[in-house]
Amino acid sequence: MIEQADLVKQIQLYNPDLNPEVIHDAYQYAVKMHGDQTRASGEPYYTHPVAVASILAEMHMDAATIVTALLHDTLEDTEATFDDLKARFGEEVAALVNGVSKLTRIKSHTVERKQAENFRKLVLAMSEDIRVLLVKLADRLHNLRTLHHIENPEKRSRISRETIEIYAPLAERIGLHQIKEELEDLSFEYLNPEAREGITNRLSFLRQEGGAIVKNIIKELTKTLKAEGVESAVTGREKTRYSIWRKMQRKNVAFEQLSDLMAFRVVVETVDECYHALGIIHSQYPTVPGRFKDYISTPKPNGYRSIHTTVIGPEGQRIEIQIRTVDMHEEAALGVAAHWAYKDGTTKAHIKEIKKYRWLRELLDIIDQEQKPEEFLENTKLELFQDQVYVFSPKGDLTELPNGSTPIDFAYAVHSAVGDRCVGAKINSRIAPLNTKLNNGDQVEIITAKNQNPSPTWERFVVTGKARSRIRRYVRQQQRGEYVTLGKAMLQKLFQQEGYDFAEKAVQGVATQFRVETIEDVFNGVGSGNIVARDVFKAIFPAHKTTTVKKPTDAEVAQQVAQAKQGTGSTPLLIKGLIPGMAVHFARCCHPLPGDRIVGIVVTGKGVTIHTIDCDTLENFADTPERWIDVSWDDGPNSAESHVGRIEVTIANVAGALGTISTVIGKNGGNITNLKITSRSLDFWDMMIDVYVNDTKHLHNIIAALRATPEISSVDRARGR
Ligand code: MN
Repeated sequence: MIEQADLVKQIQLYNPDLNPEVIHDAYQYAVKMHGDQTRASGEPYYTHPVAVASILAEMHMDAATIVTALLHDTLEDTEATFDDLKARFGEEVAALVNGVSKLTRIKSHTVERKQAENFRKLVLAMSEDIRVLLVKLADRLHNLRTLHHIENPEKRSRISRETIEIYAPLAERIGLHQIKEELEDLSFEYLNPEAREGITNRLSFLRQEGGAIVKNIIKELTKTLKAEGVESAVTGREKTRYSIWRKMQRKNVAFEQLSDLMAFRVVVETVDECYHALGIIHSQYPTVPGRFKDYISTPKPNGYRSIHTTVIGPEGQRIEIQIRTVDMHEEAALGVAAHWAYKDGTTKAHIKEIKKYRWLRELLDIIDQEQKPEEFLENTKLELFQDQVYVFSPKGDLTELPNGSTPIDFAYAVHSAVGDRCVGAKINSRIAPLNTKLNNGDQVEIITAKNQNPSPTWERFVVTGKARSRIRRYVRQQQRGEYVTLGKAMLQKLFQQEGYDFAEKAVQGVATQFRVETIEDVFNGVGSGNIVARDVFKAIFPAHKTTTVKKPTDAEVAQQVAQAKQGTGSTPLLIKGLIPGMAVHFARCCHPLPGDRIVGIVVTGKGVTIHTIDCDTLENFADTPERWIDVSWDDGPNSAESHVGRIEVTIANVAGALGTISTVIGKNGGNITNLKITSRSLDFWDMMIDVYVNDTKHLHNIIAALRATPEISSVDRARGR
């Protein structure tokens, strides 16, 4: 058990300026908060955070990190709150502890290989501050060291698997090779104790035979090279049991067949020296056939350069030797970054990754060498993978999405059918709006319904290409359906006006003249405004004398409008009845409301716009009668829908007048959606107010109520202009 004084001493060795009070305070707090909680070993719980703190002290971490380690389980496992920590230990430590707790809450049910990379990125993205990750790794290391106390074998192997798939690779990526190897070795013990023991026995047998074999080989190799005039730095070591095991598995070979239980690295200055060194080694020691690879003349796709060879070394052992220059050696270290480049990594993204990675390495080198890491760690944020967000399915599968993604993006990422049928979403078991931005680690459940279709409004907030294109495709299909119905109706109307029976065959006959194939294409063209209805008619009846269309006189316009007003046009098209789901827009000029007499105007590429019959804008369409559609309000189930009504109000410029208006409108069941002051004089303000109402009657009630209000000098419904 590590005592408080030991921990302080340990830190003071590399950080003489440490204020012991800070450690003291955190230590006491951890002891108090964890109270009589115990570890599986039976020891008091607080021994765990203290041990984690000590691991981090070995890594020469700054005081804030050590304090975070001491407190790292208080948020999750004790009564302590974020605010408590903030008040007592400051914002920085509270945020770090919070970060570690967030990582603790990620629960991976199963870690399959293909999911592992996403998990690692999730952990990195959630870490935000590299110190959070370092504490988490130290926490994991101590948990692994004490894993034998846990009795449930399933729990042991789950933790081991998670460690080997996620945390060990993360430790390696940030340059913590020793921690990575210990994590792997400890996990290996639980995942495959037999294999580990077998390898241990064979290795110790070899060691007995060879004595200080690695050291001797390094000495020997250096001497041999120097004798031939090549200055080199030789390093070497026995491979770890886990990496030996991995290799046996990967290559499907027995232990005895492994040639490279020991790996040596020869680093020289120039490329010439690489080949020179290779020549010396090959002439001095018997080579193992088939094991020579020249990645200098032919670098690996990720840019890795080195010469690999295997020889029967000075001690009679098969040893692997890598020969490279100092530059190549540095690049090789960075080459690890290749593994975490984006999967479809463009060169640009790749370079970005490498830059990030270099930054991280430099930082760790600083931690390694600096006496006072404080200054360097302060405010250092991990910016890795901040442009991605990782979320879980209810089954625990991880999905990677761009930052800003919503449940709809998630649904489409799972499957297009899931997206198309989406009606709602639960985020972390709570119903949430479909435009909610997802956070790292969220668990997202999509609620679907059989007869649901994508909503065009989704397009406004989705961020993934897949979701957007599926929604657009659906909307286009839907629109085409509307245009086809509309185009057909327009042609029928025109035929009727000109006194002919409508014949689909005849329309099909002229399709090619409009560079389309099917009759549906013609209808679609007419409905969307790309083909003029009258042109189709003319193509079918070239000899027919049509009344020449010219700019109508004012009298004609008046007549058109009057005709429409009386509803004496041809058969009315009940839009809602005839063409379900047709693209209908309400004109912004006149804001038609149920109860108003209305008329529909076909607008190119937009469907139908509804105007009030007295809207001034209608004059613009007087010379294209085929675009006019007689419509009326459907009293069906949709009649309760809200519509925007626009009113013009003049109020006296007195205090509280605005408040009065909104109160009056609200009391009468209206909902202000937009308010604009159009002119302001000393005494009076003119304004325009848009109100959600059910129909004209509703709007008139509101207008009447406003008229009864003393501060308001005039109220009128706004008319199209
Ligand atoms: Mn812990």
